[in-house]
Amino acid sequence: MLIYDPYYFQCPNCQAWFEGRNLKSDLVNEAILYSDGKILYDNFITTLQKMVLCPSCGHTFWVEHPEEPFITFEKPKVAIYSWNSWRFYGINFSDNRGKLALIKHYQQFLKKSHYEPTKEIYLRRLLWWAYNDLHRNFHFIRWKYFLNGFMSYGVWSAYRRMLLEGEKLFLKNLKAFNSNLERLQALLEKHPEEQFDLEMPEIYRELRQFDKAKELLDQATSRTHFTNEMIRHSKWKDGRVFVVTG
Ligand SMILES: [Zn+2]
Repeated sequence: MLIYDPYYFQCPNCQAWFEGRNLKSDLVNEAILYSDGKILYDNFITTLQKMVLCPSCGHTFWVEHPEEPFITFEKPKVAIYSWNSWRFYGINFSDNRGKLALIKHYQQFLKKSHYEPTKEIYLRRLLWWAYNDLHRNFHFIRWKYFLNGFMSYGVWSAYRRMLLEGEKLFLKNLKAFNSNLERLQALLEKHPEEQFDLEMPEIYRELRQFDKAKELLDQATSRTHFTNEMIRHSKWKDGRVFVVTG
């Protein structure tokens, strides 16, 4: 079970109230780190959702710093949109249709306005992860995950079907995926303080520029499991997102 601290905030346009959650990662049973930097704790993404789409009036706004009265830790005595009702824009992305809808939301946010670099980096990184969600955990298509008794045949074959379809959708969107990643790369080069550890070699690897990825990895001062795995995948000329630990 994840433990969280609730906080409450208001839509600046229609004053509807929302419940937000600050997840505490210290009581986590299982954490999974993916090569693109996405981390799941007990299957929850803990990266804050900073862009909110108000279900009541359709207004989009940023929630970043806990400040009153816009954000409060005191529960208001009025009806509140629950966390589950607004996060990920109300999308159920346990199927590929939901995953595509999430991609569309990020694309629309990016089209709608010009953002300062840190905000654009945030949105483009989440768009990158959303594309990768189409074929994240692609290794599960292998028979061994069924044969190991990891999942029942029904669950495994449905998951496998979704991943194979997701891979097709990913490839169909490859041009848009690349152009988002190239733009993110350019922004991160200008703002190195915003880079995650090993994010630049990973971007090169996912853009299938494997020699450049290896070159950056060779320059890394310490060799970690993450670095070694990334070198291995670059040597295989595999540009897919993979599980680093978990
Ligand atoms: Zn509103």
